Amino acid sequence: MKLIFLGPPGAGKGTQAQRIQENHGLVQLSTGDMLRAAVAAGTEVGKKAEEIMARGDLVPDDVVVSIISERTQQPDCAKGYILDGFPRNVAQAQALDKMLAERGESLDAVLELKVDPKILLSRIETRASETAGGPRADDNAEALKKRLDVYMAQTAPLIEYYGKKDILKSVDGMKSIDEVTAEIEAALKL
Ligand code: AMP
Repeated sequence: MKLIFLGPPGAGKGTQAQRIQENHGLVQLSTGDMLRAAVAAGTEVGKKAEEIMARGDLVPDDVVVSIISERTQQPDCAKGYILDGFPRNVAQAQALDKMLAERGESLDAVLELKVDPKILLSRIETRASETAGGPRADDNAEALKKRLDVYMAQTAPLIEYYGKKDILKSVDGMKSIDEVTAEIEAALKL
């Protein structure tokens, strides 16, 4: 099964993807986590991405598309995966469609976590205080505002993009973590 989790920063995509990974053996592929690992390791990609990420902008499409293209071919992805934080714009979604078509594959579903934008700042503040090793460089009010603007302008149009393909499912992300997991499992018939 190949899934996308869609939603603004702080919607709970990572938390829920991790739970679906644990419960159903799908691999969570977070481009944000992979980029943060590249930054920490000081790779070429990491050096390119560090400043862009800290201010809340998107790193170039070709960088994330090639990361996802390579990662999804690893043996552990054979049973399926959850894309968490990718695609972030229509160009990335088109690149993903092309990549899957070339492999004779397709997406099973796109899951949108719907949340009230008003709660996002407090969720991000909670995450910043709970992250082992200190808060992420972009978990602060200024970068969050930028990330939300980027989400609205570039990522939210994907709701229509996948809606038209008839694979979009929306879940209320304002409920408790357990309730949201249960709703996701029901929506995806897991
Ligand atoms: P996330 O952990 O998903 O919130 O991502 C953190 C940051 O990594 C984003 O604000 C972007 O700078 C970068 N990033 C993650 N995924 C992507 C993507 N698909 N396209 C471009 N930039 C990304």
